[in-house]
Amino acid sequence: MRMVYTNDNRMLVGNARNLLESAGIELLVKNEFAGGVIGELSAFDAWVELWVVEDADYRRACKILETALSDRNEPDWHCSGCGEINDVAFEYCWRCQSRPPARGGAPAGD
Ligand SMILES: [Zn+2]
Repeated sequence: MRMVYTNDNRMLVGNARNLLESAGIELLVKNEFAGGVIGELSAFDAWVELWVVEDADYRRACKILETALSDRNEPDWHCSGCGEINDVAFEYCWRCQSRPPARGGAPAGD
């Protein structure tokens, strides 16, 4: 088991988690419930951590995050579901999990 991502911004961690889980990577989330209510600025010492359960997934997980987090040339996108503004790195709205409006390329199907 290896840690792939941590950040003091729980929304960013949540989005990273979505990215990895949507790729079928099994995760363990540490400190998810530490620090009380989301929105309070009280938990600087308890960053949420994402751990890959299977070491075999570690490289793939890193690659996914690397790709997602480095693709920052595009502007933020507005969620058509709830109107939230999301970082371009994220494939889903952090609030309602909707897909962004057309970003080129259809989903690979499922
Ligand atoms: Zn939304």
